[in-house]
Amino acid sequence: MSTPLTDSSRNYLELEEKYGAHNYHPLPVVLDRGAGPFLWDVDGKRYYDCLSGYSAVNRGHCHPRIVSALTNQASRLTLTSRAFHSDLLGEYARYITSYFGYEKVLPMNTGVEAVETAIKLCRRWGYQVKGIPENKAKIIVCADNFHGRTTTVISFSTDPDSNRQFGPYTPGFIVIPYNDIPALIKALDDKDVAGFLVEPIQGEAGVVVPDEGYLQKARQACTAAGALFIADEIQTGLARTGKMLACDHEDVRPDILILGKALSGGMLPVSAVLADDEIMLTIRPGEHGSTYGGNPLACAVAMEALQVLKDERLADNARDLGELFRKEVENFGSPQIRLVRGKGLLNAIVIDHPRPDAAWDLCLALKDNGLLAKPTHGDKIRLAPPLVITREQLLECISIVKESLKVLAL
Ligand code: PLP
Repeated sequence: MSTPLTDSSRNYLELEEKYGAHNYHPLPVVLDRGAGPFLWDVDGKRYYDCLSGYSAVNRGHCHPRIVSALTNQASRLTLTSRAFHSDLLGEYARYITSYFGYEKVLPMNTGVEAVETAIKLCRRWGYQVKGIPENKAKIIVCADNFHGRTTTVISFSTDPDSNRQFGPYTPGFIVIPYNDIPALIKALDDKDVAGFLVEPIQGEAGVVVPDEGYLQKARQACTAAGALFIADEIQTGLARTGKMLACDHEDVRPDILILGKALSGGMLPVSAVLADDEIMLTIRPGEHGSTYGGNPLACAVAMEALQVLKDERLADNARDLGELFRKEVENFGSPQIRLVRGKGLLNAIVIDHPRPDAAWDLCLALKDNGLLAKPTHGDKIRLAPPLVITREQLLECISIVKESLKVLAL
């Protein structure tokens, strides 16, 4: 269905197929350059990037200020390990804790490592502060969650693609439906519950936005039960949904805040867990860490990337353009779109079509027409461009979506 690949693109695909593990199913496009909201393939064709590295590239590709922070620091000092101090870790820790209003930060690299860190902190707090008997701590999570790919984290996934034949699984998790306060209150009745881990919007599940008030009520229920409210803002955080954090829409302050992806603006893996002393200081020297966590390169890049979000008012742009996007797509009145949903510039369209691979076909057509996006869970296509996209550029994306929908005409 899609335009045939050029010889050079086919060579790259064959190399990956032959020598790389087959743990992804990418669109057939080979990219070699990015700037702002755009990506270019090896044949020089330009695309709008409507995935943004799964919401990592919020300031656009190769943002000059972040590139400059990266290259300056890269030629000075990149890694000391935490066996020694660096001149940047303390400065970064002060910067990010005051940015988000927490007493401490624990720096890691990938998103899932930060989730693992939050789970360990929550359990530790459960034993040392709440007084849960040893090895009895439980954490409540939601069905259809996505928190990453490690063995513990897939242990509480409800997606068979994530966890089938990777058992035995880590115990200690209670799965409840998402967006269900009565189920949460019931689960919190268990005195051995140490916390509730939740995505403020379920990104990988297809941008599932909970009812207004859900986060606020969940926060209150956790406080009442003496359990920690843990927000995984790895995909929703850092201006993507129109506020700095998705929890800010409901004035909710998590006890443990998990950040990743966009923390570095897409330059290198940088993640972080933020919490106050009562929680963070339950982990002592030698009990947790990572060789690269908090390295000087990551510190320099993350500080600049966070500052760019504020200086360029990217949350405001995401809020305004997100409203425009959803309104315009709804106005298509397309019978092939069951619904469009999201917040800020984290949106998804849900396809209504008898062919199970219709969303994939639409993504191929979008690609041919100059826009890159990827289906998630079959019939949903996430549309999440870099937050630096302009109104005119977004309108062009919207007309590409409209034009591409013609491939699904019945
Ligand atoms: N948590 C959420 C909400 C995510 O969306 C993701 C990745 O998509 C992760 C955790 C895992 O992050 P990483 O792939 O960097 O490990």
